[in-house]
Amino acid sequence: MKCPHCESKLSKTLPACPQCGFSAEALGAYLGDHWVRLERITDAAHCLRLEESRQCEVMMDDYERVFPQAFFAVYLGMLPTGLNVSELGFWLLNQGAFNTPLIQKRNDFGVVMVVDPVSKNLAVTLGYAIEGYFDSKMLTSLLQAVGEKLRSQQYGPAIELAIQRVSQVLRGHARPNPWSPEVSHQASTIAVEPLRGGHRMSTPNTVAGLSAGNRSR
Ligand SMILES: [Zn+2]
Repeated sequence: MKCPHCESKLSKTLPACPQCGFSAEALGAYLGDHWVRLERITDAAHCLRLEESRQCEVMMDDYERVFPQAFFAVYLGMLPTGLNVSELGFWLLNQGAFNTPLIQKRNDFGVVMVVDPVSKNLAVTLGYAIEGYFDSKMLTSLLQAVGEKLRSQQYGPAIELAIQRVSQVLRGHARPNPWSPEVSHQASTIAVEPLRGGHRMSTPNTVAGLSAGNRSR
């Protein structure tokens, strides 16, 4: 990964960046090393209209349906002096407990987009498990395209574009997911099918329950 402070290459095993001395510990000392509970969209700068916010939530839901381990979160707000957007993205991905519909998400599959509308800076921080899928060319093109929308203050469309771009990259690496809530009712229909055919060889309890149910239909 890249150092969120100076962008030089950073090893996960090193305690601090060899170039600038940035460390997760130092950032933790500054911002806190406790877990913070966050919504997927934190709009501290009030950039998003209600409709835009809802539209982004819908896209985030779709994203999580396609990539069940992953989530996409956004922070829009003015940053304190001495902190840049990449550093905040890094900290949020390390310390944020994001309120997603499925709680068993792991932050190393997360993506956090941080926008400071005052300094007009943007960072997209990728979790450890997925950052390898993005090369620097992809990231530069993503940041340019999203940055263009932000420059014309299209915050909602900027977030949507970022989710789209990240999805495109992940889609190329995702394995098909055989289990999803949408197919679960179908699966249970299939499991029940043989019993309608009059199968009675299960344990007595099951047979009693099921035959009563069958007769009532
Ligand atoms: Zn550094």
